[in-house]
Amino acid sequence: MNPIQLDPDGTLLVLTGAGISVASSVRPFRGQGGVWTDDPEAERRATSPELLHRPDLIWELYGPLRPLMRKATPNPAHLALARFQKESGCDVRLVTQNVDGLHHRAGFENVIELHGNLLRSRCSQCDLPPFEDAEDRPRPCPVCGALLRPDIVLFGEQIPEKAGEAAFSAVMRCDHFLAVGTSGIVFPAALLVQSAFNYGAATTIVNLEPMDPPSPFFQREILGRAEEILPLLLEPPTLKPSALL
Ligand SMILES: [Zn+2]
Repeated sequence: MNPIQLDPDGTLLVLTGAGISVASSVRPFRGQGGVWTDDPEAERRATSPELLHRPDLIWELYGPLRPLMRKATPNPAHLALARFQKESGCDVRLVTQNVDGLHHRAGFENVIELHGNLLRSRCSQCDLPPFEDAEDRPRPCPVCGALLRPDIVLFGEQIPEKAGEAAFSAVMRCDHFLAVGTSGIVFPAALLVQSAFNYGAATTIVNLEPMDPPSPFFQREILGRAEEILPLLLEPPTLKPSALL
């Protein structure tokens, strides 16, 4: 497999979705074997507007997933990305739709989390900074007394402003846009790849399933498992002779 070609001072932007964490035994919410595919009632509750005002119900739905996510460990795809960021010398940014925190645990720095992180909690009312939470049950905020809640983006909630801005700033500057474990044709992948393409970046998607319909903005589609493909795709660039002088 031909590795992604980047200049040593090039910029890579990676977008990851649920497919990258399947080999870490993190179940996706949708699709084959998905938490909600197997339990439509849970999906109905997860998408109910009532949830936005009921931190206790958020815990009921998402609290039981925390121990499973703590047990999960980064797989070779997460590790290949973290290694490439450290060793390539390139500017490597990563935007994820996942809430499992596995990129961070693999050693990737400054992950942009579009949908938050299930292993963190924040206050449902005040500006208490989100924190790594070892517990899985509702408790009052130590500052204001309102209920804490998992720090994830629910249906009907906006992507955190800082994460959205960071993603679009990265997309404008990238030389290569790589989507992994996401269909590529729905938001946010569809919007990010179109922007990257329009700004002149090369574009690649790695996913198990082919895009249907194919996106005109992805120049290269690699079908297969992220944990097998990424270690081959992400070889640190060889220095040009001029860079060695
Ligand atoms: Zn509070």
